Amino acid sequence: MSKHENIEVRLAERPRGLPGDACWKVARTECAGPADGEFLVRNAFVSVDPAMRGWMNEGKSYIAPVGIGEVMRAICVAEVVESKHPDFAPGDHVTGLFGVQVYALSDGEGVNKVDPQLAPLPMYLAALGMPGMTAYFGLIDVGRVETGDMVVVSAAAGAVGQVVGQIAKIRGCDVVGIAGGPEKCAYVTTELGFDACIDYKNEKVGAALKQYCPDGIDIYFDNVGGDILDAALGRLARGARVVICGAISQYNNEGAMRGPKNYMSLLVNRASMEGFVVFDYVRRYGDAAREIGGWLADGRLKCRLDIVKGLPNFPETLRRLYTGENFGKLLIEV
Ligand code: NAP
Repeated sequence: MSKHENIEVRLAERPRGLPGDACWKVARTECAGPADGEFLVRNAFVSVDPAMRGWMNEGKSYIAPVGIGEVMRAICVAEVVESKHPDFAPGDHVTGLFGVQVYALSDGEGVNKVDPQLAPLPMYLAALGMPGMTAYFGLIDVGRVETGDMVVVSAAAGAVGQVVGQIAKIRGCDVVGIAGGPEKCAYVTTELGFDACIDYKNEKVGAALKQYCPDGIDIYFDNVGGDILDAALGRLARGARVVICGAISQYNNEGAMRGPKNYMSLLVNRASMEGFVVFDYVRRYGDAAREIGGWLADGRLKCRLDIVKGLPNFPETLRRLYTGENFGKLLIEV
């Protein structure tokens, strides 16, 4: 049985605030070949996601926390290198929760084959992967998007936000993004075709929403929580849908997360606010990927990637999400 030199990024301690280097231990190990019913993959790209911060915390959530000493959980796109599994052969490309490491063994659970001829491998972790699915089901199912809606999305230049806004444009909506800094805002309007983008680091979000959404917001797709959520709640149209996708501004709070102040706007405007977890839509990923794949192929949808090289760079790469240094879907090329 062959042996493979592995690099594993393990959780060493639970963070307080922004995860420091001490949270991680990089271990060099040997990975054995697969047992019967297993296959061995070599990761090509590891997805770096805001949700990782939640997975590092102890306590009840929609998924169990990563244990101390365990390889950090991550969605990856990989190539099968050895197999004793009837459904997977060397050379197959697959996505799965293979973790922040070079090699991983799998029994095939939660693993999907992908075709590198149809799209570049990183795209299966971006518009054709979890962030794209999040945008699609969050906007269409939870947001119940309709032609002519005024849609506002925060973290608009990010993995999920860029797809949300472009699907809303395809569906005939007016779209306003909110992002940090002039470069991201220019990208969102010029390259992605949003109608406007508010630079929350340099503009007053409430006043800008009043200017761009004079008749109110029909869908607010919230990726950030905090003050921006409050500003959006203050501009809802009657019957608005507030989609709670994430609250990245709150993930590194050392105390409790801050909730919305303006929630009575939901009553006044007969509006709803609903959270969702993308994994609940897994049975419909195929349909969504076909539609998103069509838009990518005909150029109606673009997806910007931000690729960092080298697994040992994982600790500082993860922090980039919470400082806004990433520009597009953040990945590590292994
Ligand atoms: P991303 O947008 O590619 O990256 C995170 C971005 O968040 C940063 O680039 C930064 O953009 C922004 N940000 C960071 N700190 C902020 C702060 N204090 N205030 C405002 N903005 C801040 O990440 P993503 O993968 O697309 O994820 C976006 C959100 O979706 C996250 O909240 C994530 O947890 C959530 N999510 C939820 C699900 C689900 O199933 N519900 C699935 C996937 C993702 P700026 O430079 O513009 O500030």
